[in-house]
Amino acid sequence: MRLLVIEDEQRIVDVLKTGLVNAGFIVDAVNTTADADNALNCISYDAAILDLGLPDGDGLNVLKLARSHGAQLPILILTARDAIEDRVQGLDAGADDYLIKPFAIKELVSRIKALLRRPGGALGAVLNAGNVTLDTIGREVTVAGNPVVLSRRELSILEHMLRRFGRVVPREVIEEKLYALDHEPESNAVPVHVHHLRRKLTEGQATVEIHTVRGIGYLLAEQTQ
Ligand code: CA
Repeated sequence: MRLLVIEDEQRIVDVLKTGLVNAGFIVDAVNTTADADNALNCISYDAAILDLGLPDGDGLNVLKLARSHGAQLPILILTARDAIEDRVQGLDAGADDYLIKPFAIKELVSRIKALLRRPGGALGAVLNAGNVTLDTIGREVTVAGNPVVLSRRELSILEHMLRRFGRVVPREVIEEKLYALDHEPESNAVPVHVHHLRRKLTEGQATVEIHTVRGIGYLLAEQTQ
């Protein structure tokens, strides 16, 4: 699951990135309203965290512009502005939650998860197909009831394949969900992760398997034999 952090104070960006990455998210960070507008336009983020005092303008404008374009992702405002009017303005402009600095990273992570769990949010509680289940909140996978240890990227790939069970997932979509903007994936990174994931599913005797659709991507489906 990929999040956008819009914040100009590097110390806070570092805290947010560490906390959110540890919670299993892929995180991009930008520090101006212009970069934020651009990023929200180009990438379908699952949620965003928005500072209001940005060097080139007011974060509220980012929020208003995104909503005017129909963006429905949950947006949490994170700001030092604690006046009631500021909160009301933020919520009226389409923010889903509002957290005042200084904040506890634990609270921020749990609020983001709560937003993603809302109906229509990206966090359905448990995904499953065949005898494979993935708990999107605990980030745990079982095959035939037994826990299977996956790397963060393997788990992320499996999550996207489960969400699109029976449909082809283009390789670019997996890459987009897997890598933050500041991380250029190696050209064979996705196939390597898929290879490991496939082996772990087979070893666990999964009743579903990952098919490679040449030149397009991957398909998770019931085993054919
Ligand atoms: Ca700021």
